[in-house]
Amino acid sequence: MAYDRDNIFAKILRGEIPCRKVYEDEHALAFHDINPLAPVHVLVIPKGDYVSMDDFTRTAAAEQVAGFFRAVGETARTLGLEKSGYRFLANTGADGRQEVPHFHVHIFGGAPLGRMLNKVEAC
Ligand code: AMP
Repeated sequence: MAYDRDNIFAKILRGEIPCRKVYEDEHALAFHDINPLAPVHVLVIPKGDYVSMDDFTRTAAAEQVAGFFRAVGETARTLGLEKSGYRFLANTGADGRQEVPHFHVHIFGGAPLGRMLNKVEAC
């Protein structure tokens, strides 16, 4: 899948659409999700044209991959979540129900989050 430079997160990275920024460095930008599913719900996106987790881990340079995942941890610490705990996930592709085609990690926290996942019917 080719990268769509008009996706909403590309526009946020270019500053064309505002966001509630939490953390930023040379590798990543983190901002609050517009439709939070937990008391804390933040998205972390890499600074680069990556469609998905699959695209990112196949095509990004090692320095970018390392820098991005360090930024995820730094974002969680910026939010004060490292002691109480948190969950992060990356919806990927159709079965993963990824809606925005720019790789992103969700960070959830601020309360007990319950089970990892609602049981999927095919189990
Ligand atoms: P996903 O299903 O993993 O692609 O999730 C996309 C997420 O982006 C959803 O949780 C949306 O609420 C969130 N989202 C969409 N547009 C914006 C926006 N302009 N600012 C912040 N979050 C957004």
